[in-house]
Amino acid sequence: MGTRTYKSDEFDRFSEREARKREWYEREMKKKRQALAILIGMGLAAIAVLVLIIVFLVKLFSPKDTAEVENNLSKTPSGEISLVDNQTDDAIYNAGSGSGTFVNSSERGLIVIDAGHGGYDSGCISATKYEKDIDLDIALKLSERLKEKGFGVYMTRSDDSFVGINDRADLANKCEGALALISIHQNSSDKTSDEGVEVWTSKNDENEQLAQLIVDEVSGRTGAINGGVKTKDNLVICSKAEMPAVVVECGYLSNKREAQNLSDEAYQEKIATAIVSAVDTFIPPKSK
Ligand SMILES: [Zn+2]
Repeated sequence: MGTRTYKSDEFDRFSEREARKREWYEREMKKKRQALAILIGMGLAAIAVLVLIIVFLVKLFSPKDTAEVENNLSKTPSGEISLVDNQTDDAIYNAGSGSGTFVNSSERGLIVIDAGHGGYDSGCISATKYEKDIDLDIALKLSERLKEKGFGVYMTRSDDSFVGINDRADLANKCEGALALISIHQNSSDKTSDEGVEVWTSKNDENEQLAQLIVDEVSGRTGAINGGVKTKDNLVICSKAEMPAVVVECGYLSNKREAQNLSDEAYQEKIATAIVSAVDTFIPPKSK
């Protein structure tokens, strides 16, 4: 029996040793698991901080209206991308007297004129001229003719400076009681035979009414083909403006003959006079 006891003792001691070993092993494993959890936690925290830093940097260096511009990114069927474009440098615009509210004191109310493009943004290009220059030439003539009719005029740009696409409507919206926003552009197409005047706007009765008046007058007075009114909901300037707003595509710079006309002072005067005539109908003089 002694042998058994001996065996049993030895077995008990062996079991105790095993139990201690197992305890030790479990403690070690627990420590390792805790260390691993802390490590994973720290890793996740580091990733989160990194992501936050990246988001902050992206926000800091991207333009204000990126999402909005992205939403509006598309081409007009005629190929003029600038109206819904992805111009980004909002920060460097210079719109003359553009800051603060512009208060009108004219007898017939205020019209906002927006000469397309400007600065490093040339718009489309004819053989000899940039669109931005023709846009400004016509816009300045339009301004003079409107003032002669008793309207007040605010121009989003009156020289060769860049104005961001989203700032244009913002500037117009800052003009108290502005009655209309007229944006001047020139068209372009891969088909060099394309020609004629078109007026673009976003769907709304007043916009479409003003657009129709302008396209008919310009076509009637210049003899350009009447391309009619085109509506598009994501035209930034028209959908953001809080007043009737239209984009006049006076003609195609990709068409050689029309490009020559559009650079001609007398032809530009006809366009300006035609637009004034349309505005005169749209906003009749107050009866005394
Ligand atoms: Zn343009």
